[in-house]
Amino acid sequence: MISPLAAGIYEGLGAAAGAGLAVGAYAYASLWPGSRIFGAALTAPARPGELALTFDDGPNATWTPRLLDILAEHEVRATFFMLGSRAAAQPELVRRIAATGHAIGNHSWSHPNLARTRASHVREELRQTSETLQQIIGAPVKFFRPPFGARRPVVFRIARELGLEPVLWNAMTSDWSEPSADRIAKQLMNKIDGLQRRGRAANIVLHDGGHRDAAANRAPSVAAAELLLERYAKSHRFVTLDAWC
Ligand SMILES: [Zn+2]
Repeated sequence: MISPLAAGIYEGLGAAAGAGLAVGAYAYASLWPGSRIFGAALTAPARPGELALTFDDGPNATWTPRLLDILAEHEVRATFFMLGSRAAAQPELVRRIAATGHAIGNHSWSHPNLARTRASHVREELRQTSETLQQIIGAPVKFFRPPFGARRPVVFRIARELGLEPVLWNAMTSDWSEPSADRIAKQLMNKIDGLQRRGRAANIVLHDGGHRDAAANRAPSVAAAELLLERYAKSHRFVTLDAWC
């Protein structure tokens, strides 16, 4: 008889194999966004009419302000998973994001692979980022998204000890390396529409920053976000992750 845990692994491996990925069970458990083997995390609830736009690896001095303008034009709030190191260098921009009603999450200080980082350093990455963000915005940070989605059980345990809800995603494409906004948007729309058919909300990842390059060109990601806003403005409700907790 197959245990529920093993069944979860096999189901996940099937999904991974279907996506053309050759991964072992450990890699699946530590990296696959749908895996709950290494701890429960927020992805998206059974609310097919809702979309959460989330932006990782910022803030970015050029592209985050442009994105904020576009979100404001559409009167939409999003969630920004920031690197503590980038936030510390641009406190005014972080304050602008918070002041305009967007949610702010912790994406670690320096974007390491936390599945391979010793526990004391994981804690330091998360603690320093939460403290920095709280000092800037004057409110506690509630959400944590692991860099690369990489985790092991102790990572989420530390996050929870620091008052952070772990968050993954269910709609992502390689926007950081794709020059065409149309292709980014089309791939995300396919995922969003598939989730809709399965009765799920979409937790969408785009990148307003780059973890290797503070000045990364995010024009395609920002333009793709605008295409999503236009496509779903009338049919869906855009929410921050606060709506799902
Ligand atoms: Zn990241």
